[in-house]
Amino acid sequence: MCDSLFTVEDWVRYGDELRRPLLVAPKLSQSTKVCIVGGGLSGLSIAYRIATKRPDIEIEILERTERCGGTIETWSEGEWLCDVAVNAARPHHSFWRLVKDLGLGDVFFESNPEATSRWLLLNNKKSRLSLLTALKMGPLRLLRSVRSSRSGGKSIAEIIPNQSVADAMTLGIVNDVSRNVDADFLMPSMTRFGENPPIKWSKIKKMMKQSYPLFSPRKGSIASFEGGMQTLIDALVAQLGQLSNVQIHYQQQFDNPEQVALEQNLPIHSIIWCAPLDRTAEDQTELDVYAVGYASKDITTVPIGYGTLIPDNEIPVSGILHESDVHTTSRAPANHRLFRIMAPRRRGGDEAAVRNSLKQILSGKEPILFKKIGQRSIPSYNPGYMSTFDDNNRSFTRAGWFFSGVSVTHVVAEAERIADKF
Ligand SMILES: Cc1cc2nc3c(=O)[nH]c(=O)nc-3n(C[C@H](O)[C@H](O)[C@H](O)COP(=O)(O)OP(=O)(O)OC[C@H]3O[C@@H](n4cnc5c(N)ncnc54)[C@H](O)[C@@H]3O)c2cc1C
Repeated sequence: MCDSLFTVEDWVRYGDELRRPLLVAPKLSQSTKVCIVGGGLSGLSIAYRIATKRPDIEIEILERTERCGGTIETWSEGEWLCDVAVNAARPHHSFWRLVKDLGLGDVFFESNPEATSRWLLLNNKKSRLSLLTALKMGPLRLLRSVRSSRSGGKSIAEIIPNQSVADAMTLGIVNDVSRNVDADFLMPSMTRFGENPPIKWSKIKKMMKQSYPLFSPRKGSIASFEGGMQTLIDALVAQLGQLSNVQIHYQQQFDNPEQVALEQNLPIHSIIWCAPLDRTAEDQTELDVYAVGYASKDITTVPIGYGTLIPDNEIPVSGILHESDVHTTSRAPANHRLFRIMAPRRRGGDEAAVRNSLKQILSGKEPILFKKIGQRSIPSYNPGYMSTFDDNNRSFTRAGWFFSGVSVTHVVAEAERIADKF
């Protein structure tokens, strides 16, 4: 691909999101009415971006369930507050811009600088993941593997030569082992997928750092909402409700874009599909999510940190997130700590098994709170996934984390990039 499709300004605005293909129908911008299928963060933010830019375009959001937000939802009970899925966003201008534009800047905070440590539980031993872990892999070996990844279609296991570190990374992001995860999709800047910036990436990064709205994030930090991620969904739904050109319809079941086009009497290029497409149950990881709370005095042996990843399939829990440590706003009553537990169904553990394993991993003491707060599916992104996006198949627009990238930052950056087309 040529190196100059985007300007320096574009790169500063979107960063390495520009390496990801935008799966937009060429005639989308000619639409006078657009139908968005799926009312998750992707569908809502695309609707918000197009509707505010082009009040003359009519927008219908068709959501299968009776609520918007999709994967995103925040659970609360008394003073306990826990996100069922997304709990924070890594720094990205698009996300910061959305927070600012929605007027949420005063309830959006950087994570606790004391809660950055991540641990890996292997053979009953917890070790801290650090720069040292990376160095132990052998910097030259790592460099060679990263270089070889530039031929494309590799798995994360192939480019990170230490299996535990590679598995820890992919488990933390997509709850799957590294041999099953496409390196281009997870880390396109590392594999150099897609376009390259016209000037040095380090210069772009510097310019990006200086141009954040709201606040410049600290290196390695993430950021979250005082009331959990549902705050973002509630604000989007409220703002869309104020716009006369947008309508949200619930309990709408559509199987494919062609069906929507036919039933809505629209050309296929006016459909934006922000939902799974052609995915089977085997194509995703099913997780049970638990909120677990302890009195602080009962959990003193667990240091303040971000969380622990557990690659061992014999243990029913794959990840423990220290929710009340990570966020700067409170998620638990005073003198209590809250943890979020991810339990992949394929590990076969029921509630009793999860509870039992926490006795070994977290504390022998009984938790004050132990509640299953939801279940979620994470799509699989097998090696070669990104290369399967067919440039010639753009009769309709595809968006959302099935296509844009796994995190909320990808989804909201994609929404802005789609609206740029109008
Ligand atoms: C456990 C977990 C933790 C996560 N943690 C983080 C995190 O900390 N940070 C981060 O950045 N990202 C995180 N993510 C990823 C994040 O949740 C996604 O990037 C984002 O929410 C995807 O939004 P979406 O709108 O693309 O998809 P979804 O949220 O899946 O929304 C799709 C919507 O489409 C609807 N739908 C589906 N099929 C149809 C149909 N046929 N017709 C009509 N509607 C349909 C669904 O009901 C849903 O509302 C996490 C994900 C999970 C599962």
